[in-house]
Amino acid sequence: MSGLHDRHRAVLPDWLALYYDEPIEIVRGEGRHVWDAAGNRYLDLFGGILTTMTAHALPEVTKAVSEQAGRIIHSSTLYLNRPMVELAERIAELSGIPDARVFFTTSGTEANDAALLLATAHRRSNQILAMRNSYHGRSFSAVGITGNKGWSPTSLSPLATHYVHGGVRTRGPFAHLSDADFTAACVADLRDVLGQTRPGVAALIAEPVQGVGGFTSPPDGLYAAFREVLDEHGILWITDEVQTGWGRTGDHFWGWQAHAESGPPDLLTFAKGIGNGMSIGGVVARAEIMNGLDANSISTFGGSPVTMAAGLANLTYLLDHDLMANARTVGALLREQLTAACADLPGVREVRGRGLMLGVELVRPGTLEPDQAAASAALEAARAAGVLIGKGGGHDTSVLRVAPPLTLTAQEAREGAAALAQALRATAGG
Ligand code: PMP
Repeated sequence: MSGLHDRHRAVLPDWLALYYDEPIEIVRGEGRHVWDAAGNRYLDLFGGILTTMTAHALPEVTKAVSEQAGRIIHSSTLYLNRPMVELAERIAELSGIPDARVFFTTSGTEANDAALLLATAHRRSNQILAMRNSYHGRSFSAVGITGNKGWSPTSLSPLATHYVHGGVRTRGPFAHLSDADFTAACVADLRDVLGQTRPGVAALIAEPVQGVGGFTSPPDGLYAAFREVLDEHGILWITDEVQTGWGRTGDHFWGWQAHAESGPPDLLTFAKGIGNGMSIGGVVARAEIMNGLDANSISTFGGSPVTMAAGLANLTYLLDHDLMANARTVGALLREQLTAACADLPGVREVRGRGLMLGVELVRPGTLEPDQAAASAALEAARAAGVLIGKGGGHDTSVLRVAPPLTLTAQEAREGAAALAQALRATAGG
């Protein structure tokens, strides 16, 4: 163990998981590459958990951050804050939510916590619908809506949560159905759950593409079909866009737009890549919901001028360079190459995802049993081949996750796919 690893173990919580048998200290990044303390260079296909959204050391973001830091770093929400107002205006407009208000936090957990506070206060109910296999954060409230045992350290909760089907298309009791029948079965399940709960459920919270759950998603339109049922009961729809935000899926700016037939969600949460690495989270809601709290609330660090400057520069860059289109075309190329490379590997059950949000699910050859050991070995082998990726998936962490910065080039996609193919051949070949 390196000295730093020993020191990490000695002073930080045991549950703060580190990747790799010999963890990496990343000391520098540029574009889609990072360097470790030993000078090794890696193609970064995980972006620090989808958080370096655009590129490492993007000059436009670095400049905005340093210029703002040179003026003022912090003032708090007690004073007017121009970058915060500007970013709120732009996110409100982009959100698709009418008469939108934006509240900034410092993390996705806190964003979801705020959304839960708003929805439960608005509906005067602590009942929440969440998806099986979901992840929404690490706080006491967020853990209470997490349908993933591996990320649920307690069953105690301030919420009464009912879990419904739909986030995982290719496993579970409805996996064999066609898309239309799958959606119909999930809607029937939702109705069944609602028929058995106390009236007055506050909200459904869902990730359009489940991130920690292994980049799984329902057929397009499922949440629109859910929305019709929710509307019959006045139940709010919260879309957790912490991983899908700002065009990562290639097809839409937000993940909910793949489910837009019944209108926009009531609340939307975002975080991770919005500040290209600066800590920005937040919630968007219709004014009537956002303004419904009858006590003061603040976030001391939420909306800090430095993070907002980063968010504005990042958003401008992303739109000016149409990175959503890049996610679509380069993501399609990467998916195609990975699919071809995995075609004859018996340990690969599925290559899935959209845009630059791709998952490779590993199983014990000839079975449907998740192969956690193969996933860990593939992660190590990819690292040895100079590529950083992530892991995820239900209770078993058997899915490799590929989610690079959205500026990934076609050449880098080819290099990454070749390195991953090599890593998978060595570990999931059968
Ligand atoms: N929601 C989703 C969908 C996430 O993936 C995450 C983080 N993995 C969170 C919320 C929590 O965000 P944070 O880690 O910033 O608190």
